[in-house]
Amino acid sequence: MNDAKLGFKALKPGEQIMVDAKNAVPKICGCGCKYFISVFAVSTLSALMSPTGQELLLQAPVLVCLECKKPLVIGKENGGE
Ligand SMILES: [Zn+2]
Repeated sequence: MNDAKLGFKALKPGEQIMVDAKNAVPKICGCGCKYFISVFAVSTLSALMSPTGQELLLQAPVLVCLECKKPLVIGKENGGE
């Protein structure tokens, strides 16, 4: 038995990529909480502005802090107020 390291495969394009959590930066709310809840911000587009001529309901997913309920702003550094 030799100990050749088999099982090491190169990733092909389009293959599933394992994201290394070490490279991810955790988002922390200004209050210090690290946990967020997924909610929806809902807005209506009036019939006058809508391309369909009917009032439209728009939903946008938002993450809010579990503790202080402040929305998480993605793409900005912490404490951008
Ligand atoms: Zn918070």
